[in-house]
Amino acid sequence: MSRPEAEVAASEGPRKVVEDATCTFCGCVCDDIALVVQGNRIVEAKNACVLGKAWFLGHHAQDRPACLVQGKPAAMEEGLARAAEILVRAKYPLVYGLSDTTCEAQRKAVAIADWIGGTVDTTTSVCHGPSGMGFQAVGEVTATLGEVRHRGDLVIYWGGNPAESHPRHFTRYTLMPKGMFLPRGRKDRTCVVVDVRRTKSAKAADMFIRITPRKDFEALWTLRALAKGVSLDAARVETETGVPLATWQDLMDHMKRARYGVLFFGMGLTMTRGKHLNSEAALALTRDMNAYTRFVCKPVRGHGNVTGADNVVSWSTGYPFGVNLSRGYPRFNPGEYTATDVLARREADAALIIAADPMLNFCQAAREHLASIPYVALDPQETLTTRSAAVAFTTAPYGICAPGTVYRMDDVPITLRPALESPYPSDYEVLCRLEERVRHAPL
Ligand code: SF4
Repeated sequence: MSRPEAEVAASEGPRKVVEDATCTFCGCVCDDIALVVQGNRIVEAKNACVLGKAWFLGHHAQDRPACLVQGKPAAMEEGLARAAEILVRAKYPLVYGLSDTTCEAQRKAVAIADWIGGTVDTTTSVCHGPSGMGFQAVGEVTATLGEVRHRGDLVIYWGGNPAESHPRHFTRYTLMPKGMFLPRGRKDRTCVVVDVRRTKSAKAADMFIRITPRKDFEALWTLRALAKGVSLDAARVETETGVPLATWQDLMDHMKRARYGVLFFGMGLTMTRGKHLNSEAALALTRDMNAYTRFVCKPVRGHGNVTGADNVVSWSTGYPFGVNLSRGYPRFNPGEYTATDVLARREADAALIIAADPMLNFCQAAREHLASIPYVALDPQETLTTRSAAVAFTTAPYGICAPGTVYRMDDVPITLRPALESPYPSDYEVLCRLEERVRHAPL
């Protein structure tokens, strides 16, 4: 190191390495990251993929007040008092977000929703909500990613592109690793991708099946029929699915021959025509396959702790998302109690938004209504949502600065090892203080 470099390094503070840090950028939640920290900056993220590196290295100290009331800097106590007032006075408050924060914070958010008789919903309602409904209808034959790594010799991806959205899904869990029962790694596995377009993931597959858009249900039902030995009209199958019956039969033969089959499905399945019926079809097919061999099924989840949100809301209320607590007991009804619908119908009169940006990605009617009501927002960054909030709290980013627990997409809880300190409180700390105020506020 040259002398000026050494001086810069010294001036930036001591260097340390945080081993086994956890990346919370996507649902893979890789917990083998070695973070090199220089002063108060992460300068290297070993083992992280390109998305993970951008997540860690892109973290910069914020220059924002910890609390803003009506866009003006305010003391935390003032912000908390105003936030509690907004939520307690509301007749139909909405609590939304939660997929990019810790389970501890999620639990507090559900408690607040309970105290104020609100509706609690998470970003699951706009991604894998149909899967949550499918699990309730059909059940889930499931496994951990560790089990898939060691046993999965047939891996099917349906309606997803993990090569770009979850870059280490292949390399850490499903295709490349050498497993206990798959000593040659990739050579011992067969990979099938089913999608409506040839993605980067399709290029990594041994078999790519391109189906007609919006025909996932018909395709999955074709496989269910073949699993049961039902004879099908070849011309009709090809017309309906865009794929010859012989190709489906070939896939079914692979599925029956597999020692351990895995079906991963993404939003290409859950957010197309059929929605929860598609998820149910995938889950039912997996169940059918267990008459022949071991077969499991998992949704590929996006946000770092969206699986934690499902778990926490489920264990707290009995339902995974879209839960109304206004009657003192939980009611679940997607479409009625999901955030976009509650806002677009102009029902909510206040909101608490945690680690989400609905002003960026909700439909126009929902955004317009959200902008017209008082709401509280917690986020490490300035976003469109925090900008219009009546009260905005800047919080420490989870995993990088804030400790806690997150759930990997296979429902395995993982402890965070934050590398940096933050001048801001965590979501959990803010929500604890807010819950205290809400709980003791006069109604
Ligand atoms: S795959 Fe996901 S969790 Fe793993 S390092 Fe990449 S972005 Fe982070």
